[in-house]
Amino acid sequence: MRGSDYLGYNGILSTVLDDFQYRDGQNQLAQAVARALSDKSILVAEAGTGVGKTYAYLIPTLLSGKRAVISTGTIALQDQLYEKDIPLVSRILGKPLRTALLKGRANYICLQRYETARLQPELIPTGQKHEERRRAMDDWLEETLTGDLSECPVELDDPLERAHITSTAENCTGRRCPYYERCFVVEARRQALESSLIVTNHHLLFSDWLLRQDGFSQLLPEVDAFILDEAHLLPDLATRMLSESVTQAELEHVLANRVWSDLLNTGPSSNTPLWEQLEQAFARLVSQESGPAGILGCDEWSASIRESLETLASGFEALLLRLDSAPEDDAGRNARRNLERIQRILARASEARHPEREPGSQWPWLEWLQGGLVVRLEPVDPGYGLRELMQAHDAAWIMTSASLGAGGNLSYFRERMALTECEEIIIPSPFDYAAQALLYTPDTLPDVDDPDYLDAFTALASRLIDSNPGGTFLLFTSHRALAAVHARIIGSVGTRTLLVQGHASKYRLLERFQEEAPAVLLGSHSFWEGVDVKGLALSLVMIDRLPFASPSDPLVYRRIEAYKRMGKDPFRDYQLPRAVLTLRQGVGRLVRHESDFGAVVVGDRRLVERGYGSVFLASLPPMTYAREEREVAEFLKHHGQMAGH
Ligand code: SF4
Repeated sequence: MRGSDYLGYNGILSTVLDDFQYRDGQNQLAQAVARALSDKSILVAEAGTGVGKTYAYLIPTLLSGKRAVISTGTIALQDQLYEKDIPLVSRILGKPLRTALLKGRANYICLQRYETARLQPELIPTGQKHEERRRAMDDWLEETLTGDLSECPVELDDPLERAHITSTAENCTGRRCPYYERCFVVEARRQALESSLIVTNHHLLFSDWLLRQDGFSQLLPEVDAFILDEAHLLPDLATRMLSESVTQAELEHVLANRVWSDLLNTGPSSNTPLWEQLEQAFARLVSQESGPAGILGCDEWSASIRESLETLASGFEALLLRLDSAPEDDAGRNARRNLERIQRILARASEARHPEREPGSQWPWLEWLQGGLVVRLEPVDPGYGLRELMQAHDAAWIMTSASLGAGGNLSYFRERMALTECEEIIIPSPFDYAAQALLYTPDTLPDVDDPDYLDAFTALASRLIDSNPGGTFLLFTSHRALAAVHARIIGSVGTRTLLVQGHASKYRLLERFQEEAPAVLLGSHSFWEGVDVKGLALSLVMIDRLPFASPSDPLVYRRIEAYKRMGKDPFRDYQLPRAVLTLRQGVGRLVRHESDFGAVVVGDRRLVERGYGSVFLASLPPMTYAREEREVAEFLKHHGQMAGH
């Protein structure tokens, strides 16, 4: 059997699934996936909304009988694949297979930490309500086979409470833990190693790779194929995961260690005891001027910064030599490993004079954040790290997402992923956007930086919400704009439910948005993607401004500076395509089904007035352009009536 026997016109899926629709693009993608699987090659595939990419990669993968890891960017997609799509496809194909769902350890209850928290009431809030929560938690623990907190009936919205009952790599005691044999994290990892199809997330994929590099262990088994869905998230994640840093708090912690201080100060030394020299170097380092942006690349460092880093690096090196001969328990070994990491980062930072352009090198930065100073090593080219990850596995790599490209090609994604040899395909959405959706950028609104802009944007939103029989998303590029519009729009949405990001979990807000339709939801970054609301529940998406990432985000600032130092144009090569991808994600919330309709309103006139606006417009689905607000209101009313309102 081939993929087309299932996905083809009048194929098996069309006979067994009521809602299955033949899609030419889906078959095209399935064929490309089958080729990549058999050649162990790299495929980059943009598959627009509605193509049905999940079946397009699941069916050829299961038919091939190859062992595979499917990695996603969000837990929601992970759960959907594991609980719904894979069992369904496996049943239809008649191919039972051993599957595993592997999440990050923060998603599983840690039995040891939960027990500690139960005995220390100050760690978990008390009172009758909390007693009930604890009893519900105990009952759940009696039954759960996975320890996955997403299955827990007790809502755990408080991050602090959650942190007390989950583990980190640092506080997990591993084999010395009395609960090791029953540990849910250990069990999930064991199952992953024994399965032929593992569903995981990008974060864990990188963690597995970093663990292998260090020679400690591995989280995932050897497989024939990696399928990376929601691949648009990979470049930024790679930058974060492949960076290393030392914080001011970590340095303070080391310098507060009296045992180490005594150890280093014994033996011959100069007039000033060695430990005191380290403390002075640290004090000099943290008192440096941060510069206007709060970030300094290594080519901007003063002699004093460099000297302080050198003193700390060489002092810690001397300490490590003395620690080598000191007897140690487990805690001592962990502390020494941590000190080795800190010393290595400081030494590399202190040696750098100019940013190196070698793709595998790291650039040092000093950052002044709210919690204090951070010394960071960031890869010059995160894609290089990804390429190394791929080369370390003799496997096929399939990367897919609904939006990977900007301006009609995938070069931005390929460049950031350092992909030179790969097959790439762009499969447009099968939806009839020209008939189903309007795009409107009002020329009546002030410039986005005008002090009156948010007033005008809110007034427009109120009028359109009023004429919209369906639900509305107001998507913002900043929390500040969200809060400002929220304050202005209260009282202007009639009887509609007004939901605001931050007032409940994302999951709960989306649940209410659909249950209490037509509702209005104000959201920032996390609602721009991974949200799937079909039908009249969402028929209007309004966006406050073009989503250029702010250079006040340290990651963005560092990338911009890195592009400049590499002689590239950061706006053309980084900021613009990144913003285009984000806008595509936001716009992509609107039409999720072939019977959906609606309007996207982008309040930012730069979309039509600036030269770069054409890159955005060429990248968006081919919606009909509305010239006047009246057209939008009539379109929404007309389609609302057709839908029975
Ligand atoms: S082994 Fe680690 S994660 Fe598992 S229960 Fe013990 S401390 Fe928690």
